[in-house]
Amino acid sequence: MTQIRMDGLVKRYGSVTAVRGVDLTIESGELFFLLGPSGCGKTTLLRMIAGFLEPSEGRLFFGERDVTYLPANKRQTGMVFQSYALWPHMTVRQNVGYGLEVRKVPAAQRDQRVTEALEAVQMGALGDRRPNELSGGQQQRVALARALVVEPSVVLLDEPLSNLDARLRQSMRAEIRRICKSHGLTGVYVTHDQEEALSMADRIALLRDGQIQQCGTPESLYSRPTSRFTAEFLGDTNLVPATIRDRTSGEVTLDTPLGTLTSTAMPPDLPEAGNVTCSIRPEAFTPQPGGPIGGTVERKMYLGERSLLSVQCQAAPDTTIQVLELGETGKGTHEGDAVHLSVAPDQVVILGD
Ligand code: ADP
Ligand code: MG
Repeated sequence: MTQIRMDGLVKRYGSVTAVRGVDLTIESGELFFLLGPSGCGKTTLLRMIAGFLEPSEGRLFFGERDVTYLPANKRQTGMVFQSYALWPHMTVRQNVGYGLEVRKVPAAQRDQRVTEALEAVQMGALGDRRPNELSGGQQQRVALARALVVEPSVVLLDEPLSNLDARLRQSMRAEIRRICKSHGLTGVYVTHDQEEALSMADRIALLRDGQIQQCGTPESLYSRPTSRFTAEFLGDTNLVPATIRDRTSGEVTLDTPLGTLTSTAMPPDLPEAGNVTCSIRPEAFTPQPGGPIGGTVERKMYLGERSLLSVQCQAAPDTTIQVLELGETGKGTHEGDAVHLSVAPDQVVILGD
């Protein structure tokens, strides 16, 4: 079990600063996600943790130990790449065993550990195949076994499921989490896929331009974003301009194009007055006869177990909000219907920017 601590990590490639001062502690045994758009510095940060890249500034600790300049092969980390990086001329068993051979583990013990690692990823039966005789999902399992066989205390995964189709990605998510937890590993997982992060992570750091934008549990990032960037990156949302009308300690009354709304989700440094932006998720609206938000259904997009409504607001015809409607087929609203909605005060999230 290993805690990972980053202290002011910076990485410059010539004139490009890819990581600009990251302070972060990943707890021992945690499955931690580095999430963010392409180019935000996720891979660079992960490669510094792995030891493939030296930071330009800052320190990195595994537990009490300063590993900032420790070579990769001395860090007890296992790495899984998007591209699998398996050797085509070796069998599955040889691929998985290679790291042990390099570490001069005796042959008998090597065999035993390769068998165990392949069992852990449910690939025990295919040990004699070559990578080109495996599906993408099977190759990714082998890559995972190869990372696990060296008994790392930290496993680092860089977009490991990006090359798999949607269905397989789903099942591998649960499996990777299970494996990390059953081995007591500290896992650092890089992805640009917010659904993957929300469904698998203990905690997430959302990165933007080489810095942490927001860090917390999936629930906290999704339901209490502090910025537009986080609100929009984590899922669909309505960004609603608002003016503060009244403020008590725990509650803010807002004038908005939707009508008057109450919020109990506000940043600590909220001003007494002025203009702000709120994030309200499409699923936060509930139909309520006589509800405060009146509107007309402009469009209805049927999505199976739910529908996405575009609702033109009565109070401000220029404003359209996205509303998620759950319901049985054939029921619910139709285009052109008048609707009345309400939204709970903790679902009206006032953003800090
Ligand atoms: P991500 O994994 O989030 O897509 P990266 O860490 O790969 O982001 O890249 C972060 C930034 O650093 C990008 O602007 C990228 O172009 C730049 N970068 C990455 N690797 C190098 C390199 N070896 N040389 C120069 N610039 C690089
Ligand atoms: Mg990357």
